[in-house]
Amino acid sequence: MAPTQAEQQTQASRHQEVGHKSLLQSDKLYQYILETSVYPREPEAMKELRELTAKHPWNLMTTSADEGQFLNMLLKLINAKNTMEIGVYTGYSLLATALALPEDGKILAMDINRENYELGLPVIQKAGVAHKIDFKEGPALPVLDQMIEAGTYHGTFDFIFVDADKDNYINYHKRLIELVKVGGVIGYDNTLWNGSVVAPPDAPLRKYVLYYRDFVLELNKALAADPRIEICQLPVGDGITLCRRIK
Ligand code: SAM
Ligand code: CA
Repeated sequence: MAPTQAEQQTQASRHQEVGHKSLLQSDKLYQYILETSVYPREPEAMKELRELTAKHPWNLMTTSADEGQFLNMLLKLINAKNTMEIGVYTGYSLLATALALPEDGKILAMDINRENYELGLPVIQKAGVAHKIDFKEGPALPVLDQMIEAGTYHGTFDFIFVDADKDNYINYHKRLIELVKVGGVIGYDNTLWNGSVVAPPDAPLRKYVLYYRDFVLELNKALAADPRIEICQLPVGDGITLCRRIK
Protein backbone atom coordinates (compact mmCIF):
# COMPACT_ATOMS: atom_id res chain seq x y z
CA MET A 1 0.00 0.00 0.00
CA ALA A 2 1.40 3.42 -0.92
CA PRO A 3 1.96 5.71 2.09
CA THR A 4 -0.57 8.50 2.61
CA GLN A 5 0.58 12.10 2.37
CA ALA A 6 0.50 12.37 6.17
CA GLU A 7 2.67 9.25 6.48
CA GLN A 8 5.12 10.64 3.96
CA GLN A 9 5.36 13.88 5.90
CA THR A 10 5.92 12.08 9.20
CA GLN A 11 8.59 9.98 7.56
CA ALA A 12 10.29 13.01 6.05
CA SER A 13 10.38 14.75 9.42
CA ARG A 14 11.65 11.61 11.18
CA HIS A 15 14.49 11.45 8.69
CA GLN A 16 15.57 14.91 9.83
CA GLU A 17 15.83 13.80 13.44
CA VAL A 18 19.40 13.51 14.66
CA GLY A 19 18.75 10.26 16.50
CA HIS A 20 16.96 8.59 13.66
CA LYS A 21 19.03 5.50 13.06
CA SER A 22 18.19 4.57 9.52
CA LEU A 23 18.93 6.14 6.20
CA LEU A 24 16.52 3.78 4.48
CA GLN A 25 13.81 5.55 2.54
CA SER A 26 11.08 3.70 4.40
CA ASP A 27 10.75 3.53 8.17
CA LYS A 28 8.56 0.46 7.76
CA LEU A 29 11.41 -1.30 6.00
CA TYR A 30 13.81 -0.41 8.82
CA GLN A 31 11.29 -1.61 11.40
CA TYR A 32 10.93 -4.81 9.40
CA ILE A 33 14.71 -5.43 9.55
CA LEU A 34 14.76 -4.80 13.29
CA GLU A 35 11.77 -6.96 14.08
CA THR A 36 12.56 -9.80 11.66
CA SER A 37 16.32 -10.18 11.80
CA VAL A 38 17.78 -8.09 14.61
CA TYR A 39 15.70 -8.15 17.81
CA PRO A 40 14.92 -11.90 17.70
CA ARG A 41 18.67 -12.67 17.51
CA GLU A 42 19.94 -9.92 19.82
CA PRO A 43 21.88 -11.39 22.75
CA GLU A 44 20.07 -10.88 26.09
CA ALA A 45 22.89 -8.67 27.44
CA MET A 46 22.76 -6.38 24.41
CA LYS A 47 19.01 -6.03 24.79
CA GLU A 48 19.47 -5.15 28.47
CA LEU A 49 22.13 -2.57 27.65
CA ARG A 50 20.03 -1.11 24.83
CA GLU A 51 17.04 -0.72 27.17
CA LEU A 52 19.17 0.77 29.92
CA THR A 53 20.74 3.24 27.47
CA ALA A 54 17.32 4.25 26.11
CA LYS A 55 16.62 5.84 29.54
CA HIS A 56 19.79 7.95 29.40
CA PRO A 57 19.45 11.60 28.29
CA TRP A 58 22.12 11.28 25.57
CA ASN A 59 20.70 8.06 24.15
CA LEU A 60 20.83 9.32 20.57
CA MET A 61 24.59 8.66 20.71
CA THR A 62 24.16 4.91 21.05
CA THR A 63 24.89 2.45 18.26
CA SER A 64 21.68 1.05 16.78
CA ALA A 65 20.80 -2.63 17.23
CA ASP A 66 21.20 -3.41 13.51
CA GLU A 67 24.66 -1.84 13.47
CA GLY A 68 25.57 -3.76 16.63
CA GLN A 69 24.58 -6.98 14.87
CA PHE A 70 26.62 -5.95 11.83
CA LEU A 71 29.76 -5.23 13.91
CA ASN A 72 29.41 -8.52 15.76
CA MET A 73 29.18 -10.44 12.47
CA LEU A 74 32.04 -8.51 10.85
CA LEU A 75 34.40 -9.18 13.76
CA LYS A 76 33.69 -12.90 13.56
CA LEU A 77 34.13 -12.93 9.77
CA ILE A 78 37.60 -11.39 10.02
CA ASN A 79 38.55 -13.46 13.09
CA ALA A 80 39.40 -10.30 15.00
CA LYS A 81 41.32 -10.74 18.22
CA ASN A 82 43.11 -7.49 19.00
CA THR A 83 40.80 -4.47 18.63
CA MET A 84 40.35 -0.84 19.60
CA GLU A 85 37.30 1.37 20.08
CA ILE A 86 37.36 5.16 20.25
CA GLY A 87 34.06 6.46 21.68
CA VAL A 88 32.37 4.06 24.09
CA TYR A 89 29.42 5.95 25.67
CA THR A 90 27.44 3.23 27.57
CA GLY A 91 29.12 0.44 25.62
CA TYR A 92 26.62 -1.01 23.13
CA SER A 93 29.16 -1.35 20.28
CA LEU A 94 31.77 -2.35 22.86
CA LEU A 95 29.58 -5.21 24.06
CA ALA A 96 28.83 -6.25 20.45
CA THR A 97 32.61 -6.40 19.96
CA ALA A 98 33.41 -8.15 23.25
CA LEU A 99 30.82 -10.86 22.54
CA ALA A 100 32.31 -11.49 19.09
CA LEU A 101 35.93 -11.88 20.21
CA PRO A 102 37.51 -15.13 21.38
CA GLU A 103 38.10 -15.64 25.14
CA ASP A 104 41.59 -14.16 24.89
CA GLY A 105 40.49 -11.29 22.61
CA LYS A 106 41.27 -7.70 23.60
CA ILE A 107 39.66 -4.28 23.18
CA LEU A 108 41.47 -1.09 24.01
CA ALA A 109 38.46 1.17 24.67
CA MET A 110 38.79 4.93 25.06
CA ASP A 111 36.38 7.65 26.07
CA ILE A 112 36.67 11.00 27.81
CA ASN A 113 33.65 10.02 29.92
CA ARG A 114 34.07 7.14 32.37
CA GLU A 115 30.68 7.65 34.03
CA ASN A 116 28.70 6.51 30.99
CA TYR A 117 30.95 3.50 30.50
CA GLU A 118 30.37 2.55 34.13
CA LEU A 119 26.63 2.77 33.63
CA GLY A 120 26.76 -0.11 31.15
CA LEU A 121 29.65 -1.96 32.79
CA PRO A 122 27.55 -4.18 35.11
CA VAL A 123 25.73 -5.58 32.06
CA ILE A 124 29.07 -6.25 30.33
CA GLN A 125 30.38 -7.94 33.49
CA LYS A 126 27.26 -10.08 33.79
CA ALA A 127 27.76 -11.18 30.17
CA GLY A 128 31.21 -12.48 31.22
CA VAL A 129 33.22 -10.44 28.71
CA ALA A 130 34.59 -7.54 30.80
CA HIS A 131 38.03 -9.23 31.04
CA LYS A 132 38.55 -8.50 27.32
CA ILE A 133 38.26 -4.73 27.87
CA ASP A 134 41.02 -2.31 28.79
CA PHE A 135 39.21 1.02 29.33
CA LYS A 136 41.21 4.24 29.23
CA GLU A 137 39.54 7.45 30.34
CA GLY A 138 40.61 10.55 28.45
CA PRO A 139 41.08 11.90 24.94
CA ALA A 140 42.17 9.22 22.50
CA LEU A 141 44.64 11.22 20.43
CA PRO A 142 47.46 11.45 23.03
CA VAL A 143 47.12 7.72 23.72
CA LEU A 144 47.52 6.99 20.01
CA ASP A 145 50.57 9.27 19.91
CA GLN A 146 52.12 7.40 22.83
CA MET A 147 51.49 4.11 21.07
CA ILE A 148 53.08 5.36 17.86
CA GLU A 149 56.06 6.66 19.81
CA ALA A 150 56.49 3.39 21.69
CA GLY A 151 56.84 1.68 18.33
CA THR A 152 55.63 -1.72 19.58
CA TYR A 153 51.99 -1.33 18.50
CA HIS A 154 52.55 -0.82 14.78
CA GLY A 155 50.48 -3.17 12.66
CA THR A 156 49.02 -4.98 15.67
CA PHE A 157 45.26 -4.27 15.49
CA ASP A 158 42.83 -6.47 13.57
CA PHE A 159 39.94 -4.05 13.92
CA ILE A 160 39.44 -0.45 15.09
CA PHE A 161 36.03 1.19 15.51
CA VAL A 162 36.00 5.00 15.55
CA ASP A 163 32.83 6.57 16.92
CA ALA A 164 33.89 9.73 18.76
CA ASP A 165 34.69 13.39 17.98
CA LYS A 166 34.12 13.72 14.22
CA ASP A 167 36.43 16.77 13.97
CA ASN A 168 39.34 14.49 14.86
CA TYR A 169 38.67 11.59 12.50
CA ILE A 170 41.35 12.75 10.05
CA ASN A 171 43.82 13.03 12.93
CA TYR A 172 42.84 9.55 14.11
CA HIS A 173 43.26 8.18 10.62
CA LYS A 174 46.84 9.49 10.35
CA ARG A 175 47.74 7.41 13.41
CA LEU A 176 45.43 4.43 13.08
CA ILE A 177 46.68 3.58 9.59
CA GLU A 178 49.99 2.73 11.26
CA LEU A 179 48.48 0.82 14.16
CA VAL A 180 46.08 -1.40 12.19
CA LYS A 181 47.71 -4.41 10.55
CA VAL A 182 47.88 -4.83 6.79
CA GLY A 183 44.65 -6.70 6.01
CA GLY A 184 43.03 -5.27 9.15
CA VAL A 185 39.99 -2.99 9.17
CA ILE A 186 39.21 0.48 10.54
CA GLY A 187 35.50 1.36 10.73
CA TYR A 188 34.63 5.07 10.79
CA ASP A 189 31.11 5.61 12.03
CA ASN A 190 28.53 8.27 11.08
CA THR A 191 30.08 8.99 7.70
CA LEU A 192 26.67 9.92 6.21
CA TRP A 193 26.15 12.27 9.17
CA ASN A 194 22.38 12.12 9.43
CA GLY A 195 22.11 12.47 5.65
CA SER A 196 23.54 16.00 5.93
CA VAL A 197 26.42 15.17 3.55
CA VAL A 198 23.98 15.85 0.69
CA ALA A 199 21.95 18.62 2.34
CA PRO A 200 21.79 21.93 0.42
CA PRO A 201 23.87 24.74 1.97
CA ASP A 202 20.78 26.50 3.36
CA ALA A 203 19.16 23.36 4.84
CA PRO A 204 17.82 23.87 8.40
CA LEU A 205 20.28 21.56 10.13
CA ARG A 206 20.76 21.29 13.85
CA LYS A 207 23.73 23.26 15.08
CA TYR A 208 25.91 20.31 15.91
CA VAL A 209 25.04 18.47 12.67
CA LEU A 210 26.04 21.61 10.78
CA TYR A 211 29.24 22.06 12.79
CA TYR A 212 30.60 18.56 12.11
CA ARG A 213 29.32 18.21 8.55
CA ASP A 214 32.39 19.73 6.89
CA PHE A 215 34.69 17.44 8.86
CA VAL A 216 32.70 14.40 7.72
CA LEU A 217 32.77 15.62 4.10
CA GLU A 218 36.55 16.12 4.31
CA LEU A 219 37.04 12.70 5.85
CA ASN A 220 34.99 10.97 3.15
CA LYS A 221 37.07 12.66 0.44
CA ALA A 222 40.34 11.83 2.17
CA LEU A 223 39.43 8.16 2.65
CA ALA A 224 38.33 7.82 -0.97
CA ALA A 225 41.72 9.21 -2.10
CA ASP A 226 43.92 7.20 0.29
CA PRO A 227 45.91 4.56 -1.64
CA ARG A 228 46.84 2.69 1.57
CA ILE A 229 43.30 1.43 2.01
CA GLU A 230 40.37 -0.17 0.21
CA ILE A 231 37.07 1.29 1.32
CA CYS A 232 33.41 0.42 1.48
CA GLN A 233 30.85 2.93 2.76
CA LEU A 234 27.71 1.21 3.99
CA PRO A 235 24.33 2.83 4.77
CA VAL A 236 24.07 0.93 8.07
CA GLY A 237 23.06 3.10 11.02
CA ASP A 238 24.28 6.59 10.18
CA GLY A 239 26.75 5.28 7.63
CA ILE A 240 29.91 3.35 8.36
CA THR A 241 33.02 3.39 6.18
CA LEU A 242 35.12 0.26 6.37
CA CYS A 243 38.77 0.75 5.48
CA ARG A 244 40.93 -2.29 4.83
CA ARG A 245 44.62 -1.51 5.03
CA ILE A 246 46.43 -2.81 1.99
CA LYS A 247 49.91 -1.32 2.50
N1 SAM B 1 30.10 3.63 20.31
C1 SAM B 1 29.20 4.15 21.30
C2 SAM B 1 27.99 3.25 21.48
O1 SAM B 1 27.89 2.20 20.83
O2 SAM B 1 27.13 3.60 22.28
C3 SAM B 1 28.76 5.56 21.01
C4 SAM B 1 29.84 6.61 21.12
S1 SAM B 1 29.23 8.25 21.19
C5 SAM B 1 28.55 8.50 19.62
C6 SAM B 1 30.68 9.25 21.15
C7 SAM B 1 31.57 9.13 22.37
O3 SAM B 1 32.83 9.73 22.06
C8 SAM B 1 31.05 9.84 23.60
O4 SAM B 1 30.86 8.93 24.65
C9 SAM B 1 32.14 10.86 23.94
O5 SAM B 1 32.37 11.00 25.33
C10 SAM B 1 33.36 10.25 23.26
N2 SAM B 1 34.41 11.20 22.92
C11 SAM B 1 34.28 12.49 22.48
N3 SAM B 1 35.49 13.04 22.28
C12 SAM B 1 36.41 12.08 22.56
C13 SAM B 1 37.83 12.03 22.53
N4 SAM B 1 38.56 13.09 22.17
N5 SAM B 1 38.46 10.88 22.88
C14 SAM B 1 37.74 9.79 23.26
N6 SAM B 1 36.38 9.78 23.31
C15 SAM B 1 35.74 10.90 22.97
CA1 CA C 1 27.91 6.34 15.95
